[in-house]
Amino acid sequence: MTRRKYVVGNWKMNGLSEAIGEAQAIFAAAGEYPAVDVAICPPFTLIGAMAAAAAGRTVGGQDCHSAASGAFTGSVAAPMLADIGASLVIVGHSERREGFGESDADVCAKAEAGLAAGLSVILCVGEPRDVRESGGAIDFVLAQIAGSVPGEFDPARLAIAYEPIWAIGTGLVPTVGDVAAIHGAIRGALAARFGGKAEDMRILYGGSVNGENAAELLDAGDVDGALVGGASLTAAKFVPIIAAAADL
Ligand code: PEP
Repeated sequence: MTRRKYVVGNWKMNGLSEAIGEAQAIFAAAGEYPAVDVAICPPFTLIGAMAAAAAGRTVGGQDCHSAASGAFTGSVAAPMLADIGASLVIVGHSERREGFGESDADVCAKAEAGLAAGLSVILCVGEPRDVRESGGAIDFVLAQIAGSVPGEFDPARLAIAYEPIWAIGTGLVPTVGDVAAIHGAIRGALAARFGGKAEDMRILYGGSVNGENAAELLDAGDVDGALVGGASLTAAKFVPIIAAAADL
């Protein structure tokens, strides 16, 4: 099967109500590129309003709890995301793994919770700088894949995002060859475990993607799209990335 390009904005902890207009501008422009699946993952507080303002568009959460409900003060469950109009959730972002101590097992449980709630899931992996410099990036990422990808899933609803931690928000990006090598290794590991399903799974690259570098990064082998942080906050910066995906 041909994997559709997938460009997803991760707004992180940015955006008040007035940002809904920017999301509407992004989704309106994305309509010009029907070959690309476009999603925005705003803070929890904006999901309901954004989903209502952009009917039919994909709006997602940036995290969810692994339990469906319970005594977890401050947390948001996957069915709650679905209930307010989200159809996607990001799990295992490095800012959650590092900042909130999430293990591979935690990330796996969150992915399972998202899938069980009917959401699509983007599961993030990626190595820190010292691991990259010591030549261990592929082994590190494949261990994260082994530990955090659930055993059962519909490949249309589970995507992987490879996001080297040292590239996030820094302006640094791996070489196209390094991106292709690690994406190929991820697909190979998925194929070894899940067989033909791996061909249907999308593997996104994330880390300092912008309008200038998107075309070459998205053209690398086994790259099916991008997870974009800073450059997804405005239509002016995000739409050129969507356009670059559409050109491939
Ligand atoms: C991210 O945090 O998912 C990300 C890719 O951020 P940025 O594009 O800002 O590097």
